[in-house]
Amino acid sequence: MRGKLVIKVGLLLLVLLVLTVAIVGIFVRKSVLESSEETAHTVAEIVRDSLTSYMIMNVIDKRDIFLEQIKNTHGLEYVRVIRGEPVIRQFGPGREIERPADGLELEVLMKGIPKSELIETKDKVLYRLVIPYKATSRGQINCMRCHQVKEGEVLGAISLGMDLTHKRMEAMMLLGLYTLTAGGVFGFLFWVLVRHFEPYRQLFEEMKEVLNSFKEGDFRRRINVDLEDEAGELARVINSVGETLGKTLSSIREKVSMLIGYNVLETENALKDTEKIVEELVKISHFKRTIEQDMSKSDIYTRIEHVLYDYMSLDKFSIYEVDERKNRMELVTVHGETMWCSESILENPDECRAKRTGQDVDSQEFPCICPKFAHNDLCSTQGIQYYCIPVNVGGKVGNVVQIVYEKDMDMFVRMLIPYIKGYLQEASPVLESRGLMELLKQQSYIDQLTGLYNRRFLEEISEKLAAQIKRRNSVLGVLMVDIDYFKKVNDEYGHDVGDRVLKEIAQVIKSTVRESDYVIRFGGEEILVLLVDVKEGKAKEVAEKIRRAVENKAIEFSGGVIKKTVSIGVSEFPKDCEGKFWQCIKFADVALYRAKEEGRNRVVRFTPDMWTGEEY
Ligand code: GH3
Ligand code: MG
Ligand code: MG
Repeated sequence: MRGKLVIKVGLLLLVLLVLTVAIVGIFVRKSVLESSEETAHTVAEIVRDSLTSYMIMNVIDKRDIFLEQIKNTHGLEYVRVIRGEPVIRQFGPGREIERPADGLELEVLMKGIPKSELIETKDKVLYRLVIPYKATSRGQINCMRCHQVKEGEVLGAISLGMDLTHKRMEAMMLLGLYTLTAGGVFGFLFWVLVRHFEPYRQLFEEMKEVLNSFKEGDFRRRINVDLEDEAGELARVINSVGETLGKTLSSIREKVSMLIGYNVLETENALKDTEKIVEELVKISHFKRTIEQDMSKSDIYTRIEHVLYDYMSLDKFSIYEVDERKNRMELVTVHGETMWCSESILENPDECRAKRTGQDVDSQEFPCICPKFAHNDLCSTQGIQYYCIPVNVGGKVGNVVQIVYEKDMDMFVRMLIPYIKGYLQEASPVLESRGLMELLKQQSYIDQLTGLYNRRFLEEISEKLAAQIKRRNSVLGVLMVDIDYFKKVNDEYGHDVGDRVLKEIAQVIKSTVRESDYVIRFGGEEILVLLVDVKEGKAKEVAEKIRRAVENKAIEFSGGVIKKTVSIGVSEFPKDCEGKFWQCIKFADVALYRAKEEGRNRVVRFTPDMWTGEEY
């Protein structure tokens, strides 16, 4: 920009200089010519008038002296008198010198009007003037007295030549002097202009750069100004716009960080950062509003999964849930593998580093840091990385979200982490409240004394369970268990010991059957066991196992050791009761009654003959 400006101003001034030099040149030439012309005319007229006087005084033969004098005094190259036709006719041709020498002189003799010409060569400048000598009878001198001519006829001409070479020289010197002076003045002007414009040029250059960096979202740059005029004012306004925008954007980012609790990754472009942050905040807030409407934790997990998989395009991740009560971890969902971690963390949650420390686990920061990551071989060789985020739910690590990624996705994942945390932070209180709700609901199905399911639970699941069994063409074993002579325990050792015995027997039963079976406290000391997917006819065997386990269990208490037995009635759903669930329970009870009758501590399988009544 600077070069261009200098060239432009320089060219402009040069053109101006050339123009003024040309104008001055033309003017000087014109005035030199005009003054020479005027002198020549005056001289020619003097010559004409003087010669007329010479003629009158009859001393015309002395004309050469006069002409020589005139030539010398006026610095003429030559001055001649030329005879015209009438004079030649009357007085003869005269001397050689008095004859017309060229076309110019002939033309004046013929036409009777003055003519001039300028002959310019490299070495010489000659101004020639020829003026006619016309016959007249008017005035003081009557030509006709001597000349036999008509009025107005051309008698001859005065031809003179002036050497203007020295005048040209003078004019050239003058012009040279002028060029030098003007050149100096224009040069100075050029210097002053360039010097004056330089700060403005620098200012505009800086403005351009600073505004460009604003455009790129970098508001840290400022224009250096020491100009006090409007341009300086403009630069100061731009600076303060940059400062205000920069401050506003960084305060937005700070507030967002406070809001979502983490610092978001900043790039050089504050505009883009802010746009992204606001966009994410809107999404996170929308996410929050959505999950607040969700009824269960599993719905919320599905939404987090959707955010990670569909929105953030992550294809390898797991979500774990920590069950504090059971001291277990559960794999809620996983993408890209059956499980990215060693299965042992499920049974021992503290083996999960993120769960144990409550801190982010970053395999980039400390290579392959967690020994429980099942693919540490890939981590060290193929650059598979992981980032595990513990989610604080109700003051404890309630979940762990694990992101697994290839090394070349590092920047991308690092950029996402703060936003993922933002989503998890929003999900955390909702997860807690839904967790509590689920726990509450669960507890309302649990019998407080024994820890077994209660009757309400049975009512809740009965329909669904019966339908599932039927659909699967499977068998549900129904075992009604009653402790033999339980009243005696109460009577002999008191209610507390009775409670204790009941609790222990409940545990024995529970540990004898499968995890997927339901053990329900049906009545006072009656326990209903539902054996899911039992083999047909095999329910009785399981009942026998229970009976034996209870029989062998020694229940210790401060006053000694108690051993109790149970009687069990068995029926199988749906076969025994034509698919009527509650009828099968009744039939198991009927069989139990039979077992009691037959002497207790035994298992009785229901048979149709035991039920003579109408339909249940
Ligand atoms: P059997 O079943 O062998 O005929 O004799 P039983 O003595 O067990 O008789 P029954 O089943 O009729 O009596 C049950 C007793 O269990 C009555 C009640 O006092 C006692 N019982 C029921 N629920 C509880 C409980 O929660 N805690 C205690 N300590 N006792 C209970
Ligand atoms: Mg009993
Ligand atoms: Mg009973």
